[in-house]
Amino acid sequence: AQGYVDQKVGVLGLGRSGLATARALNAGGARPLVWDDGADARDAAEADGFEVLDLSKTVNLEDMVSLIVSPGIPHLYPKPHPAVAAAWAAGVPVDNDIGLFFRSFATQDWESFDQMPKVIAVTGSNGKSTTSALIHHILTEVKKPTQLAGNIGRGVLDIEPAIEGEVVVLELSSYQIDLARALTPDVAVFTNLTPDHLDRHAGLGGYFAAKRRLFAEGGPDRAIIGVDEPEGAYLANQTNGGNGDDRVIRISSGQKLSGPGWSVFARKGYLSEWRKGRQVASIDLRAIAGLPGAHNHQNACAAYAACRTVGLAPRVIEQAFHSFAGLPHRSQLVAERGGVRFVNDSKATNVDSAAKALQAFKRIRWICGGLEKEGGLDALLPHTDDVLKAYVIGREARNFALKLGGVAHQVCDTMEAAVTAAAQDAKAGDTVLLAPAAASFDQYDSFERRGDDFMRCVKALDD
Ligand code: ADP
Repeated sequence: AQGYVDQKVGVLGLGRSGLATARALNAGGARPLVWDDGADARDAAEADGFEVLDLSKTVNLEDMVSLIVSPGIPHLYPKPHPAVAAAWAAGVPVDNDIGLFFRSFATQDWESFDQMPKVIAVTGSNGKSTTSALIHHILTEVKKPTQLAGNIGRGVLDIEPAIEGEVVVLELSSYQIDLARALTPDVAVFTNLTPDHLDRHAGLGGYFAAKRRLFAEGGPDRAIIGVDEPEGAYLANQTNGGNGDDRVIRISSGQKLSGPGWSVFARKGYLSEWRKGRQVASIDLRAIAGLPGAHNHQNACAAYAACRTVGLAPRVIEQAFHSFAGLPHRSQLVAERGGVRFVNDSKATNVDSAAKALQAFKRIRWICGGLEKEGGLDALLPHTDDVLKAYVIGREARNFALKLGGVAHQVCDTMEAAVTAAAQDAKAGDTVLLAPAAASFDQYDSFERRGDDFMRCVKALDD
């Protein structure tokens, strides 16, 4: 990180991104002053030679040029961390690693526009990781230099310096966008909006305000926007101004967007690109194993559009789709035994993402349950028509099962019991789908461990 030579910069929070920030500041010749409310993290940083400054109480920050805040720290709502309040009082800009990244990314000199590395930033409620990873995969397949960072993969300040013609793909959460003072991606992608994570943003308004910052006036050259919710449709109209120019590419799963602008949409298993009222390309998405379901077709549209903006041809993108294996724990095809498919969607931790998973398959043997999220399961029930039977896991499996209405079910408690029972019941053509619609913390450390356990149990069926 450049630009703060010999100046004091506060670093609040010493997790992975906080430490990377402190290291990057050091490397750029700045003087980081670090703090974490946890003593262990503080001690470790001190042992690494970082200068610790107590930011737990209101201190005078006037001689700092910036305070860099980690994503886990509340800064706007409900109550700012004391150090953030102190920075406000002293007029010190509050920023984060993303802001630092963009500050230094923009300062490098390149001989021509084509040589300049570009940044594609991906945000939205769902599909961020899949879309980012898919863009990165396509660029890798065509041998374009590319790196993947942000909320997925490496921290933004841990990436290698960008080289000529490189495309840096950043997955950005709303928290990350909210804090960054510089946000200058060349291409910004907004997948969709659902009311998840609203607590930290003072409701839907604050959440949407955070996302919108990415598309502000003078913002990205290209904006790729999912228009299936009113917020996205509004954002697209507002970002575009008129309807005729090429700044916005509208994305949809389900709607036919064949108007005068630029659009990429998926309908009945086909992706279509339209520009100025004419169809440019069509791709059969049903043949792509790594991207099952309408939700993944939306991700495919977003990734396709992003790759089009950096000059890739439709056929090249289509080819790369075929070699995309999907991300672990997101509609991941784990095994096929006697015509029965086993799919790991452990990342479906809420009702909304589980509903998407249930819509992506037919003849489903559904493994669900765990730590239930607020709002109950009612919104899920309209999507259970293709469920042959539910196999319920979790500490509260019995309770969870009671809320499944008329869906046939069996209380299994453990993953092993559920996988065994589902495999026994399954016939060729069925899909055994782990899509819990619940958090994992009653039985596992994380959704990844839960998905790993599912895969282990599926493997054990062969023994
Ligand atoms: P994020 O990074 O935004 O959390 P992921 O790509 O990791 O998104 O997907 C998380 C879960 O959300 C997946 O398991 C899937 O069930 C669901 N999902 C993925 N893409 C979409 C989408 N475009 N719309 C709705 N749900 C999606």
